[in-house]
Amino acid sequence: MSQTIGVLSIQGAFEKHRIAFEKLGLKVLYVRSIAELEKIDKLVIPGGESTAMVTILKKHDLWFPLKKFCSEKPVFGTCAGAILLAKKTHGLEKFGVDNSFSVMDIEVKRNSYGRQLDSFKTFLDIKINNNSKKIESIFIRAPSIMDVDSAKVEILASFKKEPVFVRQGNKLAVTFHPELTDDLSIHQYFADI
Ligand code: GLN
Repeated sequence: MSQTIGVLSIQGAFEKHRIAFEKLGLKVLYVRSIAELEKIDKLVIPGGESTAMVTILKKHDLWFPLKKFCSEKPVFGTCAGAILLAKKTHGLEKFGVDNSFSVMDIEVKRNSYGRQLDSFKTFLDIKINNNSKKIESIFIRAPSIMDVDSAKVEILASFKKEPVFVRQGNKLAVTFHPELTDDLSIHQYFADI
């Protein structure tokens, strides 16, 4: 059965994700409403500004439908999207206790790499289907994954000993931007879940 990948497109770097999945021959739908959410099999939460996303989603009644979707279906969060998947966040306190979708046992801190390292590129070894592959990784005002529940979360890539790409069941979180390079391995990996 062919799948439809939804890309949350209220804010941030959503267009490049659409292009990446379309290059893989997949059907992509931008998600901005509950009706669109009901049409998709999997969801990508892109990079952008997590505070803006939370504000907009709460205002437009998308928060709880998305939270439910994320608890059940495959979801791939990049950068700000990874923050939104975490059970414990640092930097979203102004939204109260319900400040993320809370579906991955990871602890994430916003804007963790400091000002002079706001954005940088590096090559990382990522683990995909038990193979190791070097890919270019672009970090843009990236969060860090400070802690993971290692009984539940698999670490697929690290940078300076900190996890930057993790999987828990049908959820993936990555703190860099795989949609900004030509390598489609991470998108393919999510499509295969
Ligand atoms: N700094 C952003 C945030 O806190 C994330 C940056 C990104 O998604 N590239 O939400």
